[in-house]
Amino acid sequence: MEPVHIIGAGIAGLGAAHYLAARGIPSVIHEASDLHGGRAATVLHEGHAFEVGGKNFSSAWPRFNALLREFGIAEFEPQHPGFHIVLHDRLVALEKSKTLKGDLRLASALGFRAAVQLNRFLAEARSKADALNYTSGLIEQVERDWDHMPIDGHFSRSLVDGPLRLFTVIMGAAEPSELYPSLLMLFCSGFGKGQHFAIRGGTGRLHDALADGKAIRYGSRVSRIVVERGRVTGLEMGQGRATKVLPARHVIAAVPLHVLLRLVELPAYARVAAETVRYRPLALINAVYDRPVFAEGVHSIMFEPGSILGHCSANRLHRPDHVRFTLSGRAAREVLHLPDDELIAAAEAAFAKRMPFEARRLTAHVARHPGGICGYAPYFSRVKRDLLRGVGTIAGLEVAGDYLEGHTMEGCLTSADLAVDRLFGREDLRQPA
Ligand SMILES: Cc1cc2nc3c(=O)[nH]c(=O)nc-3n(C[C@H](O)[C@H](O)[C@H](O)COP(=O)(O)OP(=O)(O)OC[C@H]3O[C@@H](n4cnc5c(N)ncnc54)[C@H](O)[C@@H]3O)c2cc1C
Repeated sequence: MEPVHIIGAGIAGLGAAHYLAARGIPSVIHEASDLHGGRAATVLHEGHAFEVGGKNFSSAWPRFNALLREFGIAEFEPQHPGFHIVLHDRLVALEKSKTLKGDLRLASALGFRAAVQLNRFLAEARSKADALNYTSGLIEQVERDWDHMPIDGHFSRSLVDGPLRLFTVIMGAAEPSELYPSLLMLFCSGFGKGQHFAIRGGTGRLHDALADGKAIRYGSRVSRIVVERGRVTGLEMGQGRATKVLPARHVIAAVPLHVLLRLVELPAYARVAAETVRYRPLALINAVYDRPVFAEGVHSIMFEPGSILGHCSANRLHRPDHVRFTLSGRAAREVLHLPDDELIAAAEAAFAKRMPFEARRLTAHVARHPGGICGYAPYFSRVKRDLLRGVGTIAGLEVAGDYLEGHTMEGCLTSADLAVDRLFGREDLRQPA
């Protein structure tokens, strides 16, 4: 049987290969780099398994947890129970679970009005948690009610510079002025769904299990999806004189949207829609020290506007000597071009301003995500409809990735499952070419 060609071995591409295999359909994955996992990869560096991007998952995510069960991955570590945010130049503790003590602390740090605003928003997100996603439709109502202004236009200043910036840098590597409330509502609804964990040993364990037995061509960069008379006929590989075209009738492009736009010519309305979706670049540094860097009781710090650090956490609850520095947000974008050693020094200096430390660095690894995290777009449901309609005009092409069903690993798996479904709905994959 002719294989489906998948572009990209991130979680969306690996997921697509898995869901195809479950239906007895072979696939070939073309991966530009020399490893799988993409923006959620686990990288081996000087004896450490460093997670360079996505790692936390919720016990309420159906597809992710089904895969963990299927592969017998059962060793997890809980996420930090709360954050510290820098507010009015000092560290303020915020717990994820709702307690009266926590509410009072929040009200005293933010002011009563802001605390009420935040609690109302979180309560709305929690109450709609089960129906809030890009497939069920409820999100469209939220978009109509909220997306006429970016997040900073809706809330008081202390919220925007404090807890809401915490959310926007984590979920979109962006400032509150750069994201829209529907995405914030989706993110906050996640607090009402299950508990959050990371896989002991790294998310790479799941990627390795998904990759096992699959045909993956590493170092295989697709430069164009060849479309003739409205149907996919091939994949152009490589560049310049080394270009060659590989025949392909069924393709799932599992790459970020800005990459997809370079690979295929979509109808104008779909391209215009796609161009409203924003990705924000960031860098993630894993660094290990000879002793704890975080003070007792502090695991995770969100930094203030103007800092090059968006977020910084001890790697897992039990490793205060292993720090994940995330350089995200507007100020970070000004320094992302720096060489590794300067970037590490700048991150440490910004951290030490809030939490002075004397520990000696043993090793560090810098992962740059120039494509960044998907920050979606206002009124995204409409954008998605146009985008999928445009892709639907090309027979044999389907898309999966972080820009369709939520920019979490679960969202990527959902998009992969739906892409396989749509491909089956449109084509008889068992027919010979
Ligand atoms: C710092 C950070 C923290 C995050 N934290 C979390 C978290 O805790 N929990 C969570 O659920 N999510 C998290 N995310 C989001 C999550 O990691 C991503 O949504 C997800 O990994 C995206 O997967 P993907 O398969 O869609 O894309 P990618 O992982 O980007 O995979 C695309 C793949 O395609 C390859 N590729 C690109 N172009 C080509 C080409 N032309 N030809 C061939 N191959 C190509 C790339 O090399 C890559 O391997 C985080 C992301 C980042 C960056």
